[in-house]
Formats: sequence, C-alpha cells, structure tokens
Amino acid sequence: MACCLIGCGSNQGARREQLDRAIELLGVMPGITMRAVSRHRETRPIGGPPDQDPFLNGACLIDTELWPHELLGVLSAVENTLHRDRTERWGPRTLDLDILLYDQLVLDNEVVDGSALTIPHPRMTTRRFVLEPAVEIAPGLLHPLSRCSLSDLLDNISQAHLHVAIVGAPGSGAAAVAGAVADATLARLVQAPAVLPWRKRAGLPDGGNPDAAWSAALSACARPLEISTWPDDPHGTVADYWLGSHLVAAEDTLSPMALGRYTAEHTAVTAKTVTPHVAILLRASPETLAERAAAQDIPVADLVRLQDRLLARLRCGKQAGDRVPHAVVVVAADDLSRAIDEAIAAVEAAG
Ligand code: ATP
Ligand code: CA
Ligand code: CA
Ligand code: CA
Repeated sequence: MACCLIGCGSNQGARREQLDRAIELLGVMPGITMRAVSRHRETRPIGGPPDQDPFLNGACLIDTELWPHELLGVLSAVENTLHRDRTERWGPRTLDLDILLYDQLVLDNEVVDGSALTIPHPRMTTRRFVLEPAVEIAPGLLHPLSRCSLSDLLDNISQAHLHVAIVGAPGSGAAAVAGAVADATLARLVQAPAVLPWRKRAGLPDGGNPDAAWSAALSACARPLEISTWPDDPHGTVADYWLGSHLVAAEDTLSPMALGRYTAEHTAVTAKTVTPHVAILLRASPETLAERAAAQDIPVADLVRLQDRLLARLRCGKQAGDRVPHAVVVVAADDLSRAIDEAIAAVEAAG
C-alpha cells in the first residue's frame, strides 16, 4: 500500500464540479482509498498560451495498491471522462491530475507502455499552486529528493527575496537563460565574474598553480553573493552560476591533496554567501553536449560527466549539505528558447 499525493487542476468548463467529480471518481476506483482532500483555490495560469482563464487547483491524498504506471493510467482515464483535451502543451484543460509523490519513490522518466513517469513531479518544488493545497493536507510529508517536508518547500519559495541560480555545464546557455528570467521577473541579474578553471586542467597557464586558479575563481564568484552586502531586491535575484558547481568541477579536476584544501576553502567561503532557494539545471542531450564539446575543444566525456555530477549533487538535496538549493527544476536545454520559457515558468510559479 502506497500513500500518494495527487495534484488537481482545471481552467476550462465547470471547474469546481469537474474537480469534485474527479475526486469522487478516484475514491470509488478499486485499489484507491481517498484519505484527504484540500480546498480548491483560484490561481493564475503559468506558462502555455497567453490569455488562459484562471485555474482552480487542489490536492488530494490517497492510499493505493496500484503501481505508479497503473495509477497514472487511472488518472488519465478520469481526465478523459471529464473531456480532457491534450492538443497543446500547458493549454487550457477541463481536468489535470498529476502524481506529485508516491511514498518515497523516485522515478526518472520511467517509460512503461509508451507513457513516461517522473516522480516526484519534476516541477512541484517551485509551484505555489501545487504546494499550498498540498501543505494544507500533508505538511509533514517528505519530498524524497530535497529531503524537505512540503511545508519547508513552501516556506522556501515564500522568502521575500528569492534567489535563483541557473546551473549548467560550460556552454549550457546559463547566461542567456538567467538574463531572460531576470528580464521577465524584474529580478536583479548576477553574472559570473569568472569562469570555472575546470577547462584548464590539461594546460594550466605557464607554471600555473592549479590551487591558485581555483581559489581565485571561487573568491571572485563568491564576492557578489556575500551575505554582508546582499541587497534586499524586491523582485529577487537571478545568478547565472552556482558556487556548488565549483566544488563539483574541482572534484573532477584537482589532485586529492589539492582537493582536500580546496574543499575546506570552499566550505568557508560559501558559508558567507547566500544559498539559492531555487536552482534551475540546464540539461542537454548527449548529442547537444557532443556539439558543445567540439565547439569548446574539450572531451565530450568530460562535459557529460560534469553535467551528470551537477545533476546528482542537486538531486541529493539536504544530504549533500545544507548549501544545496531546496527547489531544483531540471530543464531540457537543447533548444535555448524553449529552455528560457521553462525556466521563466518555473520561477513565476513560485510567486
Ligand atoms: P506539467 O507536467 O508541467 O504539470 P501538464 O500536467 O500539463 O504539465 P500533461 O500534458 O498533463 O502535462 O502530461 C504530459 C505527460 O507527463 C503525460 O503523458 C505523462 O506521461 C507525463 N508524466 C510524467 N510524470 C508525471 C507525473 N508525475 N504525473 C503525471 N504525469 C506525468
Ligand atoms: Ca476505492
Ligand atoms: Ca500539471
Ligand atoms: Ca498532467
């Protein structure tokens, strides 16, 4: 028996009746027991075509004997009963039912019979319209990646001055995405004052001391993020880098001795900086990484490994230390303009 959190939304037709009917239908399904239902609240649409009508959003908690893909099948069947149209991504819908959490299970794009499932729901940690109703019925429920409770996740995006970091392997387009997100949300843009010395491992500058290059880059990048001089920006901040990337890259580059020293320095330096509340990781496909590696004249395997390790570090949540952002959204970064739309939607959903 699994305990599952389901997100419900509607912005077309008789919204309240459709949501009530969906809850009723779910409760009578074999293998599902309805445990708790939140109130419905009106929310503004995020992403998708412009001029959509407002949503009603809610959440419910069920116990189920169904496997995740069986449950997804039941949710689609209920959506179909209520005449869900699936022609346009993030388009208007009579009913949307998403699996937010399934016990502490983690699935990454697991395909069964042609339908893909990602659990926890990949965009839930920055979505106020998801977290508010969820917290109403299950505040202490743990999100297995961030290791935060739902109530902590809602607090995290409710900060007065949200700090967002756009994270990616070199060449990912983080600067362009950060600039676009800052423009769209009126946030202050923080641009990396130095690049990761990671690329230089093969040929350091003449007589270059690897430790010195890493230290210099770290302190340059830490300076704009220092807590002591951090201004309270009414619309928050967006940085095109995350200091955690420096450590992840160093682990792949420095000798064990140098890495020991660098790790201690990194801990001390980052302790004086703001930790992002939200990280948006730009993930490129192997094909795109291969193109970028060729353009930057670096081995593709290095780029793939760095991206994988950034992802792993961010996905570990609190287990990887308390400097890891609590909300992490992975965005496909092969198409830059699409990545920008997704990143803007993820940040706007927190507001
Ligand atoms: P979003 O996922 O951003 O909330 P959406 O709900 O509008 O957007 P849909 O068009 O309803 O997206 O679903 C697209 C696909 O997402 C579905 O076909 C389904 O296979 C897949 N999917 C992956 N993970 C989940 C999940 N946890 N819950 C529901 N659907 C999921
Ligand atoms: Ca039942
Ligand atoms: Ca949805
Ligand atoms: Ca959905």
